[in-house]
Amino acid sequence: MSNSSFKVPYPVNEEILNYTPKSSEKKSVLKKYKELFNSSLEIPLWINGEQIKTGETENIMPPHDHNHSIGFYHKANEKHVRDAIEAALNAKQKWSSMSWASRASIFIKAAELISGPYRDEINASTMLCQSKTIHQAEIDAACELIDFLRYNVYYMQEIYEKQPESDNKVWNRLTYRPLEGFVYAISPFNFTAIAGNLCASAAMMGNVVVWKPSDYQIYSAKVIIKVFEEAGLPKGVINAVFGDPEMISNEVLKSKYFSGLHFTGSTDVFKKLWKKIGDNIEKYNSYPRIVGETGGKDFILAHPSANIKALSTAIIRGAFEFQGQKCSAASRVYLPKSIAKKTLETVGSEMDMLKIGSPENFENFITALIHRDAFNRLKEAIEKIKKDKDADIIYGGEYDDSKGYFIHPTLVKTTNPNFFSMQKELFGPLVTVYVFDDSKWIETLDLVDKTSSYALTGAVFSQDRYAIDEALKALENSAGNFYINDKPTGAVVGKQPFGGSRASGTNDKAGSIYNLLRWVSPRLIKEVFVPPESYKYPFLG
Ligand code: NAD
Repeated sequence: MSNSSFKVPYPVNEEILNYTPKSSEKKSVLKKYKELFNSSLEIPLWINGEQIKTGETENIMPPHDHNHSIGFYHKANEKHVRDAIEAALNAKQKWSSMSWASRASIFIKAAELISGPYRDEINASTMLCQSKTIHQAEIDAACELIDFLRYNVYYMQEIYEKQPESDNKVWNRLTYRPLEGFVYAISPFNFTAIAGNLCASAAMMGNVVVWKPSDYQIYSAKVIIKVFEEAGLPKGVINAVFGDPEMISNEVLKSKYFSGLHFTGSTDVFKKLWKKIGDNIEKYNSYPRIVGETGGKDFILAHPSANIKALSTAIIRGAFEFQGQKCSAASRVYLPKSIAKKTLETVGSEMDMLKIGSPENFENFITALIHRDAFNRLKEAIEKIKKDKDADIIYGGEYDDSKGYFIHPTLVKTTNPNFFSMQKELFGPLVTVYVFDDSKWIETLDLVDKTSSYALTGAVFSQDRYAIDEALKALENSAGNFYINDKPTGAVVGKQPFGGSRASGTNDKAGSIYNLLRWVSPRLIKEVFVPPESYKYPFLG
């Protein structure tokens, strides 16, 4: 057994491949896409390292081609959930006492597998099951997941290095114990990287995990499972169960060994889970850690001094990439009157050029929404806006679900700053613009802060340093990730730790040391070398 103090490789962000028309990477990922499209994948539960086929199954269809099946997954019942908990608890002792360097090796290897042999498969499966363009798949499923794994291993090392002060008489030491019990990870459909990270970050710190991915991400979740297995993750450390989220959560949250929730998804679901944990509090051995990154109503605010081209690009990319289905997507925009017309014309003319369709065609910028509910939510919002006198659709507003769940990118202008689409998270390619009087800059800052219950991301566009400073101060609590002259999406692990507060989450900053600290319970060890042998303090004479 080595007693050296190891250093993990210094992390660097994975290089984003371009997939230009004649590139080898384009050819290779399309080949994989076609192969997967024309096959039928069976996805069992993953409990104690075993593939569990329950016989109760659900088909998986690409959102852009919802009549075509690409496979099916097995659904869990209560017993399978209990088996997953038991498998996790049985794995706990060996896993948590494994050397941290060995744990680190597994996740660094997983990153390398995604970077190389599994890159096409994880990207193609994300294109297929979540309908991402190749660029969106590459920055998420390949690069962000790799970055999460590499950087978190490095942060883990930093945590273990953090030690209290000591002197010659007393040696103080901190150990960073994993939580007692198991962690429950629930992940959303919209980022393959988040799905991998929610279970891996807790596991990395020595925890065992029950993981419930979204029904709409199971296809790419299967690739994550394959990668973890090949990287050498021992049986039972992470266990994946699919199916009815309420039943699964009820079963998990009544276990006395439940010790932490690692959630990303919508605000309402998170609040329900928090309440359930509160109701069950007497059952638990320890107070569970609750980490949740939830919804957003993210803003772009322009000052009259804004660069219109940069602002327009940020609106297009920020609002419409991945059909606005990013928690950080810009969905409310505030434009000063003096530049509003020109900005909207620039955005509109660019929107005319956005092509819509399957991610298999690399000319498409917009692909399909994730499922019928999402399609209906946007369709209803568009119809409501069409009838409302407070707002007009100035570009887009069309939809078509005959083959896939396609909603055209839609630009809405409202005269009511509290219009429903300025407040409610719609999670689709629809952005609402409110035009304010140039003289009302300070009042508008207040409006931006108070309009929605969320506080995830926001951006200010200005060339005037005083205005930027005013925005920084007035909007201090309006966004956990605040951007100056940039779109509010696209946070990079290791560079812009991500998360918001208010209704947007517990702001534990995914992909950072702050998040990893939630998955450990430090133990302080104080050792006194020559202990006192009399109770008498000097002041007693
Ligand atoms: P969702 O809330 O519908 O689902 C998230 C997860 O919760 C899924 O695994 C789902 O099956 C599960 N779930 C659903 N109902 C449940 C219940 N009653 N009990 C327990 N679990 C339940 O969210 P989604 O549609 O998958 O993802 C989109 C949402 O996630 C948006 O609100 C978005 O803003 C948010 N999001 C936030 C961040 C962030 O970092 N803040 C990142 C990604 C997504």
